[in-house]
Amino acid sequence: MFPTSIAGSLPKPAWLAETKKLWPQWRAQGDELRQAKADATLLWIKAQEDAGLDIVTDGEQSRQHFVHGFLEQVDGIDFEHKVKMGIRDNRYDAMVPQVVAPLKLKGRVHAFEAQLARAHTKRKLKFTLPGPMTIIDTVADQFYGDKVKMAFAFAELLNQEALALQADGVDIIQFDEPAFNAYMKDAADWGVKALERAAQGLTCTTAVHICYGYGIQANVDWKKSLGEEWRQYEQIFPALAASSIKQVSLECYHSHVPPDLMKLLDGKDVMVGVIDVASDEIETPEQVAETIGRALQFVPKQRLFPCTNCGLAPMDRDVAMKKLQALAQGAELARRRHA
Ligand code: ZN
Repeated sequence: MFPTSIAGSLPKPAWLAETKKLWPQWRAQGDELRQAKADATLLWIKAQEDAGLDIVTDGEQSRQHFVHGFLEQVDGIDFEHKVKMGIRDNRYDAMVPQVVAPLKLKGRVHAFEAQLARAHTKRKLKFTLPGPMTIIDTVADQFYGDKVKMAFAFAELLNQEALALQADGVDIIQFDEPAFNAYMKDAADWGVKALERAAQGLTCTTAVHICYGYGIQANVDWKKSLGEEWRQYEQIFPALAASSIKQVSLECYHSHVPPDLMKLLDGKDVMVGVIDVASDEIETPEQVAETIGRALQFVPKQRLFPCTNCGLAPMDRDVAMKKLQALAQGAELARRRHA
C-alpha cells in the first residue's frame, strides 16, 4: 500500500553542475563528465533507497534540463542558434534550440543512465521523458509549421526511446507534461493522443506527470494569479481517464487544486503530490500522512501513490534529501493508519 516515488528530478551535486538552476552548466566535459553523471546517479539511487522510497529514479542527473536532455540526441535541431521564446503560455522566457529539418533520433538517448540505474537497484525503476506537448512548447519551430504535426513527430521519437528503455528493464515510463496545465483545451483535443502515441506498444507501466512547475519564481508568481481554486485539471483529466496511460501524477499539498478533482481519474493510479517543491520547509511525516488521508476520500487506497508535487532539481541538496525521508516516513505512518 502507498508505494512512494518522486516526480523524477533531484538536485545535481555541486561537483557535477551549477546548483539551483534549471539550465545548469556542467562542471566537466567528455569522459570526465560522463563519469561524474554516473557517480551522481549512483549517489541518488542509494539516497532514495536509504530514505525508504519504493520506486527510484536516476534523478535526471545525466540531462541538463528535462526537455533539452532529450532534444540533444535528436537530428534536425539546431542547438548552435538558440532563440528566446516565451514558454508555458508565455509564463516565462527560455533560450530554446530550433527545429530546422525532419526529426530523427541520433541513436539511443538515455541508455547509459537507464542501464546504469537498472544494474544498481533491485527496486522498481521509474524513468522520465518529456511529453510531446511540453517538448514543442520548449523548442522553436522553423520547419514543420504545424504544432500538432511536430508534436506527433516527437511522439514517434519518444516512442522509440521508451520501447528501448522498457527493454533496458525500466518498470515505469513517465512522460512529463506540465504544458497540459497551460494549454488545457489543446491537451484534451490532441495532447493526450500525442501522449498515447509516445506510449504505444509499451507493456510496462505508463505514467504522466502534470504539475504547476518547479518552485521557481516565475511559477510562484503565476500560481498567485490563478485564484483560490485551481481547476486546470478538470479540463484534462476526463481525456486522461479515457486514455491508455495507467498512472497520473498531480500536485496536491500546498496547492489550490480542489482534491475532489482526483475523482475524475477513476480507474487510474494516482500519484498524489504530498511534498511541496516550492518551499524549503521540510514536511513532517504527520503532514504527509494527513495529505494522503485527504486524498483517500477521492482515490481508492490501492491506487494511491504518494509522490512529490514536481521535480526537486533546482532545490538545495540537503533539503531534497530530507524531503525524501519525509515522503517515506509519512507514507509509512499512513500505512499504519489506513491498513
Ligand atoms: Zn513537474
